[in-house]
Amino acid sequence: MKILTINSGSSSLKVALFEMRDEKRVSFLEVEKIGEDISRVLLEKETVFEGKIEDHYEALKKIEKILNEKNILKNFDQLSAVGHRVVHGGEKFKKSVIIDKKVIKDIKELSSLAPLHNPSNLKGIEAILKKAPSLTQVAVFDTAFHQTMPKKAYLYAIDYKTAQKEKIRRYGFHGTSHMHVAKEGAKILKKELKDLNLITIHLGNGASITAIKNGKSVDTSMGFTPLEGLVMGTRSGDIDPGVLLYLMEKGFEAKEIEELLNKRSGLKGLCGKNDMREIEKIKANSQTASLAFEIFCYRVKKYIGAYMAALGEVEALIFTAGIGENSLEVRERVCENLEIFGIKLDKEKNKRNETIISKKSSKVKVLVIKTDEEIEIARETKRLLLA
Ligand code: ADP
Repeated sequence: MKILTINSGSSSLKVALFEMRDEKRVSFLEVEKIGEDISRVLLEKETVFEGKIEDHYEALKKIEKILNEKNILKNFDQLSAVGHRVVHGGEKFKKSVIIDKKVIKDIKELSSLAPLHNPSNLKGIEAILKKAPSLTQVAVFDTAFHQTMPKKAYLYAIDYKTAQKEKIRRYGFHGTSHMHVAKEGAKILKKELKDLNLITIHLGNGASITAIKNGKSVDTSMGFTPLEGLVMGTRSGDIDPGVLLYLMEKGFEAKEIEELLNKRSGLKGLCGKNDMREIEKIKANSQTASLAFEIFCYRVKKYIGAYMAALGEVEALIFTAGIGENSLEVRERVCENLEIFGIKLDKEKNKRNETIISKKSSKVKVLVIKTDEEIEIARETKRLLLA
């Protein structure tokens, strides 16, 4: 069984081809700058085409042609199904679904909650519909895993009626990643996920942390939008909403505030760089970079404390994504002085980037697990196809 997964952006496509017999990722393609003068297609990170690609439909045709030329896949008729990453499923989608007209309409309606993402995700769905109308398509939502949060975690303490009317609540994001590393974590710990309490820590350009009780998300740091919570590459994370009112009073427009919080904040806002590798390199000689590093780690630490309190018993912390999987320094600083919670990092194991980086005597294990949202989307697609 061959399954294609698609992560569709406004002018980009990330496409992975899986052979589900052994869950092998056969190919990974990226199309960049769709609709611009020169678009690019990369196969396994190598450029294989440069030239104009008008839209997402043309991009898919190009991908089919490349897969054929490389003798990887004859054509899309050989696929069993396509799975799409869809960012916002609102309260409507608590699980992945097979896409039909009604689902497309619902995803469109949810665009008001995710204006940057859902319309872009729909472009991929509509392009497949045009290219291969009879192919089964599945939507896997970033928000779905967090739909198990209790009210006390997802409601904001604002006027209840206004919140209901405007659908304002914590939705949480990165759900597919948190779910994937939780499942992998359970395998490593040789336990059933439903018997585990975990804290999963996704630290990439976007960053979020989730409290998992008996295998289910019970709280997460991203909220109504992916702006809340941890310090990120260019996003602020938690901030007093009073700051926004103050800026509005001063004459800042909504667009300017949005740009400030999404693009000119986080690590970049603090020190001018959003790449953790660069920050680590220069922080010995740069006070601002050193401070950005400390603020980043301190925020993660605070959330670990909060979620330890929320969960009571915790089996393991799991670090994942670009920074979580690679930055020894971040992991070390975050876990420093957490012995009070039974968290004891083994610095040597951490330096060697082992999978279990806590000491034998550590009550709470600390794991490093590579995230893989695509395989999770492919698995969900297969599950629904066979259901
Ligand atoms: P995205 O959210 O865009 O998928 P990634 O998960 O790829 O992001 O993470 C990107 C972040 O990971 C960047 O800040 C990058 O600097 C960081 N990163 C990648 N490799 C390393 C490394 N070896 N050491 C420290 N940080 C790293």
